[in-house]
Amino acid sequence: MLKIEGLTVHYGVIPAIKDLNIEVPQGKVVCLIGTNGSGKTTTLKGVSGIVKAKAGRILFEGKDLTKVDPHQIVHMGISQVPEGRGVFPDLTVLENLQLGAFIRKDKKAIKSDLEEIFSLFPRLEERKNQLSGTLSGGEQQMLAMGRALMARPKLLLLDEPSMGLAPIIVQEIFKIVRRINEEGTTVMLVEQNAKMALSVAHYGYVLETGEIVAQGTVNELKNDDMIRKIYLGIH
Ligand code: ATP
Repeated sequence: MLKIEGLTVHYGVIPAIKDLNIEVPQGKVVCLIGTNGSGKTTTLKGVSGIVKAKAGRILFEGKDLTKVDPHQIVHMGISQVPEGRGVFPDLTVLENLQLGAFIRKDKKAIKSDLEEIFSLFPRLEERKNQLSGTLSGGEQQMLAMGRALMARPKLLLLDEPSMGLAPIIVQEIFKIVRRINEEGTTVMLVEQNAKMALSVAHYGYVLETGEIVAQGTVNELKNDDMIRKIYLGIH
């Protein structure tokens, strides 16, 4: 579904990612793990068109995204849940969700999708008239995911969903990620929390200073000595 070929992104003269090759097959969850500043967010921003490629191609269903505007990329079926969630604090939960459907005109389907989102995230339904800025971190993460799903994406880009959340909430969020995938959405997930990422993904890539240093199926990665030691803390 998504094929990143030789992607290089610079901020000014400084390279953030170098010659990355990543594949995300339809129906799968693919994770990108790595420490702070390794280039994970930059990779996602490349896919959603927020940063421009210096070199390489990003093929989505065969079309090169490096020449497509970000809003057009959303229309093609890619939605991003940004790091830090980016909900509109002065709008209610319901208003934030409705904004997620801004590219659509099928009112009936939007309404039934809203019901589906509420069944996926019952807490959002309970709080649909609450101002989003007053939600807990976990609830804001759910809202950001719900909003992205309201665009009916084929590919969901998730940037550090676990960030700043208590372990029990992180588990809840990851259960929902699995469910979203089981219901047919392909997911590209960026995480510092390697343990959680590998619990939900099918395939993973490890980034260090902008380069891929390891990749494999989740079982291969979980059994790799370097990954066990550095990313999973198992000695
Ligand atoms: P984190 O988990 O901390 O977000 P990351 O793996 O997502 O880390 P990126 O945010 O992609 O890493 O950053 C990769 C590199 O690019 C870092 O060295 C970072 O300082 C740099 N960088 C990121 N955004 C910018 C920017 N807008 N301008 C200049 N440099 C940037």
